[in-house]
Amino acid sequence: MNPMEDKPAGSPIDRKPGGEFNHTAAGPDLGLGSAQTAGAAGSRRSFPNQGESIAAILDVIRRGERFLVCSHSRPDGDAVGSMLATGMLLQQMGKRADLVTADRIPNIYRELPGAEGIRCAMRVHGPYDAVIMLECDSLDRTRLRGLEAFFVVNIDHHSTGREFANLNWIDREGASVGELVYRLAKAAGATVTPEMATCLYTTVLTDTGGFCYGNTQASTFELARELTLAGADPLRIAQEVYFSTASSKLLLLGAALSNLKRDGRLAWLWITHQDMVRSCAAEEDCEGIVNYAICIAGVEAAAFLRELPERTIRLSLRSKGRVDVAAIAARLGGGGHENAAGVTLEGPLHRALDEILVELRPQVAEMAVEPGDGRS
Ligand code: 5GP
Ligand code: MN
Repeated sequence: MNPMEDKPAGSPIDRKPGGEFNHTAAGPDLGLGSAQTAGAAGSRRSFPNQGESIAAILDVIRRGERFLVCSHSRPDGDAVGSMLATGMLLQQMGKRADLVTADRIPNIYRELPGAEGIRCAMRVHGPYDAVIMLECDSLDRTRLRGLEAFFVVNIDHHSTGREFANLNWIDREGASVGELVYRLAKAAGATVTPEMATCLYTTVLTDTGGFCYGNTQASTFELARELTLAGADPLRIAQEVYFSTASSKLLLLGAALSNLKRDGRLAWLWITHQDMVRSCAAEEDCEGIVNYAICIAGVEAAAFLRELPERTIRLSLRSKGRVDVAAIAARLGGGGHENAAGVTLEGPLHRALDEILVELRPQVAEMAVEPGDGRS
C-alpha cells in the first residue's frame, strides 16, 4: 500500500531536477509549522510517560492535514520500514504524508509495500503542519535541508537520542523505532494491515540483527508474533533482507576481510574508496560488514571503517555488551545504541583508525583474555 498512491493527478508534489522536494499547495495554518516554533528552535516538549507522549503526538496528527515523514541519511531497515508504516498510519487517519529521504533506499528494502513512494531529495519545502522525524538525534542527521521551518515531532529509540525537537518521544527500550510506530498505531485505533505489519516486522528483524542483539527481549518476540498474525511473512521478509545479497557486496566483503586485524578483545577492518570502485559496490553493500569482526570468538568490540569519496571516514562500531560503543560514538560526534553505533570522522583512514583505537583500547584493557580467545 503506497501512501502516495491516492494523490490526484496534478498533485502539488513536485520533484525538482535540482534535488529539491517542493510541496507547493497551501494547507491550513494550524500554527504548528509557523516560524515561532520553527525547526525545533521554539518550544520543546517531552512527557514523563509513554501514554502522554503518544497522546500529544496523536493530537498533533489529528489537528494537522499534511505531514512530512523522514528519517536519517543512509536509511536502514528501521528507517525505511518505520517511515512507510507511519505513512500508512497517517493515510488511515485521513492525512496526507510525504515520505522523503536524503539517500536512496537500499535494494533489499525496495520490495517493501509503498517503498516506491519514498522520494529522494536534498531540500524540503511546503505547508506541512508538522514533520515526523524517526530515528534522528538532530535535524542534521536527516541530511535534508529546509526542516528548520517546521514543527518537528521526534520519535526515537537510540540510547544517544536527544530531545531536540518541538515534541519528543524517546523510548530507549524499544527494539526498533518501528515498535514505537506500532504502539502509536494501536493507540490511534488504526488497523495494522498486512502491509503495515510487513514494514514493522522488517524494522524489528533488522534492528535486532535477526533477534540477536541486546535489544531483543520477550516483548520483542511478542511484537513479532503480533505482526506475524497481522500478516507479516517472516520467511519472505528474511529472504528479502538476508538472502538477496548483491554479488558486489561479496567482492567488497573479500576486500574488507583482507584488511581484518585483531588485537586481543578488539577487531577491526576497513575498505578504501578504491575497494568500493573496484568492487562496483554501492553504499548499501557496506551494511553488516562490521559483523565479520564482532563475530570473532573473544572479541568484545569491533570497528569497520569506510573511506568516502570526499575522504571522510564512516565508522561503524559494534560490541557484545561489555563496551558501550554509543558513548564512544557520541564522544566523537555520532551516536547509536550501546551495542551498535556510528559516526563520521575526518580522514585519512589511518588517522581515523588511530582515533578509534585510542578510544577502544582502554575499554578492553581490564578484560582478561581467556584460554581459546586468542585463536585466530
Ligand atoms: P551503522 O553502524 O549500522 O551505520 O549504525 C549503527 C547504529 O548507530 C544505528 O542505530 C545508527 O542509527 C547509529 N548511527 C550510525 N551513524 C550515526 C551517526 O553519525 N550519528 C548518530 N547519531 N547515530 C548514528
Ligand atoms: Mn533503529
